[in-house]
Amino acid sequence: MPRRVGYKVTRPGRKADDPEIELPIAQDIRSEPGIPRRDNEVSYYAREFPLESVAEEQSASAQWALDVREEAAPATAELYREHAEAITPIVEWLKTTGDQQPTAEPSGEDVSDVIRAKARELGYGEVGFTRFDRRYVYQAKRQYVRGELATAICLAVEQDYVKSQEIPSLESESAHGEAHERQGELAKEMVEFIHSLGYRCQVWGPTWHFGPMIPLFVDAGLGQLGINGQLLSPHFGSRARLQVITTNAKLNLDAPVDYGIHKFCDLCQVCSMRCPGRAITPDKVWFRGVEKNKLVFKRCRPVMTRYSGCGVCIKVCPIQKYGMKPVMDHYIETGEVLGKSSPNLEGYTLPDKGYFAPGKLPRFDSDFFDMPLGRAEDWLVDRFKEKLESEEANGDGAKDKLWEEYRHDLERSLELKALPVDMGMDLGG
Ligand code: SF4
Ligand code: SF4
Repeated sequence: MPRRVGYKVTRPGRKADDPEIELPIAQDIRSEPGIPRRDNEVSYYAREFPLESVAEEQSASAQWALDVREEAAPATAELYREHAEAITPIVEWLKTTGDQQPTAEPSGEDVSDVIRAKARELGYGEVGFTRFDRRYVYQAKRQYVRGELATAICLAVEQDYVKSQEIPSLESESAHGEAHERQGELAKEMVEFIHSLGYRCQVWGPTWHFGPMIPLFVDAGLGQLGINGQLLSPHFGSRARLQVITTNAKLNLDAPVDYGIHKFCDLCQVCSMRCPGRAITPDKVWFRGVEKNKLVFKRCRPVMTRYSGCGVCIKVCPIQKYGMKPVMDHYIETGEVLGKSSPNLEGYTLPDKGYFAPGKLPRFDSDFFDMPLGRAEDWLVDRFKEKLESEEANGDGAKDKLWEEYRHDLERSLELKALPVDMGMDLGG
């Protein structure tokens, strides 16, 4: 049944020279700009329970994943090694950007238009400005954040469309890596440009993040949070790869937008229904002051590890597949979710299990989800203690051998912590 248009959102075109697009938002999916949020709760949690990155808090699973992936998906393991090699110099460079100095005198004028135009000309698909909200900074990253750079430039790069429709696959994961590498190249040009205007800046991403980027992109009006836990941006949906540059340049801040996604997702639910790990909760909860769907990490990571980063929740999202405008136009015309229940949108293949049509999900053995949780150092201590209490500890020199083994594992774990994991997952502090 057709829906009544509540209002229209106008956004820049996909490419710098493309005409603007107009998104009709149906009256029945209006909620509020950005995301339902209780600011006092966000502040409370940031103060009393500061955020920490998965790379720090779940380092045990990252190290577990290395061995499991090597066996289940050796080609992906090799791809990640190649990516780590390519991304490491980029990460080392971006860690230095906060210390770099401008190359000109600042005019003190608003430079929003020139920065936006430069970013678009370089190939960034979405550009927005917002206050750098330090409540989202990971505990381990606080020491690196230049607090005086109080404005965030939010920049999204599009991950290749064609390859991404093959998710999960080696090809799509290579597109993911290419997007990160492109972010590195583009950031160099942006930094040079901002310095030439007389301002300082600090680059976050790829791989080296201050914290979760999505809240800033939502505040800058570049999309809304989908059920799949990703930013749904107007042109690329969840295929947008995010990067933030903080600066002391004078910028005119953007405002959050209601694209209707908060409620549209409740009607759609495709990612939640198609997730091979059943890791996406269908109902929203209030968490750290924000109303959203939660991803169950322990049901997601084992799938990601064995199936090239998985990403089915990206692939099956209609906003990713068709773009927000066709999806919203279709909803106004029919009251339905474009592509829902079609093999074109919902079908996917897992290499060892075959094709899954809409309505069909893979089954995994009970030990598939056995994965260590928490920090690697705690996991290694627990494992060491278990071995000490087992029969393995009996016999001459057995305890010394276990101790030696523990020391070796701990040293390896510290080395691994400093290296990029998976495809661009955040690096620990
Ligand atoms: S990456 Fe895969 S397993 Fe994880 S939430 Fe998305 S669809 Fe589910
Ligand atoms: S698949 Fe549907 S429910 Fe999931 S994020 Fe995309 S629009 Fe929202």
